[in-house]
Amino acid sequence: MFENLSDRLERSFKILKGEGKITEINVAETLKDVRRALLDADVNYKVAKTFTDTVKKKALGMNVLTAVKPGQMMVKIVHDELADLMGGESVGLKLEGRPAIILMSGLQGSGKTTFSGKLANMLKTKQHKNPLLVACDVYRPAAIEQLKVVAAQIGVPVYSEDNNKDVVEIANNAIKEAKTKGNDVVIIDTAGRLAVDEEMMNEIETLKNSVNPDETLFVVDSMTGQDAVNTAKEFNDRLDFDGVVLTKLDGDTRGGAAISIRTVVTKPIKFVGTGEKMEAIDVFHPSRMADRILG
Ligand code: GDP
Repeated sequence: MFENLSDRLERSFKILKGEGKITEINVAETLKDVRRALLDADVNYKVAKTFTDTVKKKALGMNVLTAVKPGQMMVKIVHDELADLMGGESVGLKLEGRPAIILMSGLQGSGKTTFSGKLANMLKTKQHKNPLLVACDVYRPAAIEQLKVVAAQIGVPVYSEDNNKDVVEIANNAIKEAKTKGNDVVIIDTAGRLAVDEEMMNEIETLKNSVNPDETLFVVDSMTGQDAVNTAKEFNDRLDFDGVVLTKLDGDTRGGAAISIRTVVTKPIKFVGTGEKMEAIDVFHPSRMADRILG
């Protein structure tokens, strides 16, 4: 597991140093620990292998073996490489349209509606924006109701059309309303299915092409491991989304989804969800995630 990976690294290097026979082979042995931890965390095998190979090269290149504190140095190398693997820097939202449009995508239950509310709340309270939430999950009346409940909690308006199932029309009407009422950000919550299906993909693709969003975000449950990676790939192939939102990180002790998704779809993770409350949202910081992974 990821817990105490840094302690493990430090310890194994101390032992090696004590024995006075640190060699390339010993380094490789220690890095097996890292690889095992990554695999335990559901990181794809190839990604884990490439990662440890890179770390090994760096470690040997930096002469970690003769360092006074090789363990700590090793932890730093692993930390920096992990952060790099997850994109290095935080990537924010590009909201240039008037209004700016954000389209949410992802499977049912991934946390789209909750995140739409969290993001609206964050934009309202931290960036003094005036967002409008749009209910485009038209197949489940409960979904529209849920968005209204969330919106009421944060004091943000919702645009919905009770008897209309045409999401393109609803979204475009919502954008018109935003222009009239002075909402500078429009957040469109969409329908998800339990698994990727053609109808859902067609619908959201058509919606994306029609509203031309500033940001298309893919929302994914971080607890779903390798499935999360496959789903991310399928959505990205169709939507070419701009960023990923990793939800339910409060329940995920492993964090491997962050590494795998970033590596497979090469799109930045922009936000994380860390609970059910409206305030449980954070901008994604690769370095902090690396800290968390190292434990
Ligand atoms: P949607 O179907 O994609 O719109 O998903 P919902 O927003 O309805 O979320 C599904 C469930 O996950 C709900 O019970 C949410 O309260 C819960 N949820 C969403 N985000 C988080 C999170 O970051 N942490 C936790 N623990 N639960 C979350």
